[in-house]
Amino acid sequence: MGIKENLEIINKKINELNKDAVLVVVTKNQPIEKIREVISLGVDNLGENRIQEAFQKFNIIGKMNNKITWHMIGHLQTNKVKNAVEVFDMIQSLDSLNLVEEINKRCKAMNKIMPVLVEINIANEPQKTGLKEEELLGFLKSINHFENINVQGLMAMAPFVEKENREKTRPYFKRVNLLFEKVKKESIPNIEMKYLSMGMTNDYEIALQEGSNMVRIGTGVFRE
Ligand SMILES: *Cc1c(COP(=O)(O)O)cnc(C)c1O
Repeated sequence: MGIKENLEIINKKINELNKDAVLVVVTKNQPIEKIREVISLGVDNLGENRIQEAFQKFNIIGKMNNKITWHMIGHLQTNKVKNAVEVFDMIQSLDSLNLVEEINKRCKAMNKIMPVLVEINIANEPQKTGLKEEELLGFLKSINHFENINVQGLMAMAPFVEKENREKTRPYFKRVNLLFEKVKKESIPNIEMKYLSMGMTNDYEIALQEGSNMVRIGTGVFRE
């Protein structure tokens, strides 16, 4: 089995579980040839988690006539924002006011509006970044006046479990989905709840069953 077959299986699953969901192929640690291969197979959303690596790849691959959407899915430091806003079309890891201010400032200088997702640390794991559930509403209300940022939804990761225990991720995805729906009902001005980005190789099927409409898959696409 190769990339083509892996993608066919994943796309088939997505079609069955939520045909409107977006597949972001996570290309971190993958060489250029592999990225070109997924693009030639129809993939147009790419996810990277490190600025340096993304920057190098972006300089080779680019946006291919605006066909490619580059997603930042890793933790972003404020001193890397300048490069990040040049490469990425969506930042999925927004988790602090400092970051909002910096992204807004850099985007304003470029005349760009950055779509962002707010990252939720749904299991309150100390080693992970992201806001706590209870911090979200206050945070959104404190950032919705920034003109060069467009909040479009939420991103979350379930705690790591072995593949055979993946059902254990379900309650976490359910909680993020509830939060997503709750925020939607609040109708906060300038805050859209359009994307719910959750689900990776081992748990994307569960995430899709629990309301995800954007999955981020790396290993599952590139493994032999
Ligand atoms: C690496 C990564 C993924 C993809 O993980 P796989 O298990 O390889 O599918 C998804 N989201 C984030 C935030 C990641 O860092």
